[in-house]
Amino acid sequence: MEKEVISRNFIEQEIDRDLKEGVYKEVCTRFPPEPNGYLHIGHAKSILLNYGLAKQYGGVFHLRFDDTNPTKEKDEFVEAIEDDVRWLGADFEGQLYHASDYFGKMYEAAVTLIKKGKAFVCDLSAEEIRAYRGTLKEPGKESPYRGRSIEENLDLFERMKAGEFPDGSKVLRAKIDMASPNINMRDPVIYRVAHLSHQHTGDAWCIYPMYDFAHPLEDAFEGITHSICTLEFEDHRPLYDWVVREVGFEMPPRQIEFAKLYLTNVVTGKRYIKKLVEDGVVDGWDDPRLVTIAALRRRGYTPESIQKFVELCGVSKAQSSTDYAMLEYCIRDDLKLKAPRMMAVLDPVKLVIDNYPEGQIEELDAPNNQENEALGTRKIPFGRELYIEREDFMEEPPRKYFRLFPGNEVRLMYAYFVRCTGFEKDENGRVTTIHCTYDPASRGGNSPDGRKVKGTIHWVAAETAGKVACRLYENLIDEEKGVYNEEDGSMNIRPDSLTVCGDCYVEPALLEAKAYDSFQFVRNGFFCADAKLSKPGEPVFGRIVALKSSFRLPAQG
Ligand code: ATP
Ligand code: MG
Repeated sequence: MEKEVISRNFIEQEIDRDLKEGVYKEVCTRFPPEPNGYLHIGHAKSILLNYGLAKQYGGVFHLRFDDTNPTKEKDEFVEAIEDDVRWLGADFEGQLYHASDYFGKMYEAAVTLIKKGKAFVCDLSAEEIRAYRGTLKEPGKESPYRGRSIEENLDLFERMKAGEFPDGSKVLRAKIDMASPNINMRDPVIYRVAHLSHQHTGDAWCIYPMYDFAHPLEDAFEGITHSICTLEFEDHRPLYDWVVREVGFEMPPRQIEFAKLYLTNVVTGKRYIKKLVEDGVVDGWDDPRLVTIAALRRRGYTPESIQKFVELCGVSKAQSSTDYAMLEYCIRDDLKLKAPRMMAVLDPVKLVIDNYPEGQIEELDAPNNQENEALGTRKIPFGRELYIEREDFMEEPPRKYFRLFPGNEVRLMYAYFVRCTGFEKDENGRVTTIHCTYDPASRGGNSPDGRKVKGTIHWVAAETAGKVACRLYENLIDEEKGVYNEEDGSMNIRPDSLTVCGDCYVEPALLEAKAYDSFQFVRNGFFCADAKLSKPGEPVFGRIVALKSSFRLPAQG
């Protein structure tokens, strides 16, 4: 008999049990971003997790803007978030929601609590509320307003809504238990007065619900079954459950927490990314050195590579930090067979083939990807003058250097064998031109008589080459010091995370590259045409990732 080995993560196990016990008949999940910044790789994990669960169980996935806080939210962020979620492949067609659409229903829910004697209007100031709350060791103290009658509470709450009271003068609080060992249960504030205009509801409201009250209601109104969030909300779960129970939902949603995704030595928090943008350390939320989804896309990451990454990370209850190299592994793995392999010289020096006919240009055949025949072949122009990488020539080579040096013969990739006959230097001793002779019988880079060469180098014909800029990226963070400076909470930014190579020469075909097109540049890594900096016929390439790394996938078990 065949034995099926299925390893289910803890969230799947809980959903399986809920379905089996009939707690829910189908699965509905959501991703609830606050539109106060761009999404980052951590959000990608949450999106793909929630979307993946809905899909796996034949359920529904919602995208819901958690826009209950009128101060920090912006339309720019709303649009960017929708783009990012769609790009990642999480389809929310027909399932887009706004928490602010529920302000009316949330108000009704608060009234329901007041009528049940489960909420009261409190006149204590914010400081007083804090002082009355108690500590982890000591119970809190009840508000003197806790005993207000239901009628008085209903009247005051309505007048709060009508705008009769200034900001901060009154709040609505849940009446739970000031002696609870869980501080979140000590009569938490659920509504505040704030005379602020909201980007979606305008001036319709001057009272706004607090997150811990609003969030469970949003889930319940939408029929969410499993409300998946990160670990810091574990202590808020009793309040979540209290809200949906006391408001009286028949099939209340249930909260399940998992550990946030962190990347070692990488800035992932929205607040910190925002600071880098505002301080001009980066050129916007989509700067390719960031790990916002927009930045990863601009850098050249694909949805598939991020899906793979999230899958490899798995879900867990234990806080941990993932190596950025795993993300790099995923994009390399994804592009390996998809991206055409082309030649680009980033740090050029001229090479002249003295016995090659002057003025002649010929076309040589090259496969677009040696490991994937389906990508076909192309013609590359070749001529008497070429550019090669400066590091591919040495006047006095060390042992085991197999590239060009006086007297040595190498293969020009897909072209000919050439032997170095000499070189020229300028007054500073910098090599300006390398001279070679070629063997016409080695066309295609094949040995004419069985003689071997140990080195193969890439090149671009000078006459037809496209001149472009290439951008090389390093971590923004000084890895020796770690992300955060412990003394003042600032970030340890290194000054040299961007190198712009302004005089790169590429095969002419690369001038046609369009935004987001990716290539493997032989020996130099994977590059993507930068969507913000490229112009038609004038692409700017940014390095997605170098070709090699010492990273090994962690053992799966
Ligand atoms: P940040 O932690 O960067 O400030 P946030 O949690 O304030 O982000 P929200 O817009 O409130 O951002 O988050 C939307 C959803 O994304 C929430 O369900 C949240 O739990 C989840 N999320 C945020 N950061 C991560 C992360 N690093 N890993 C996994 N999920 C995350
Ligand atoms: Mg948040």
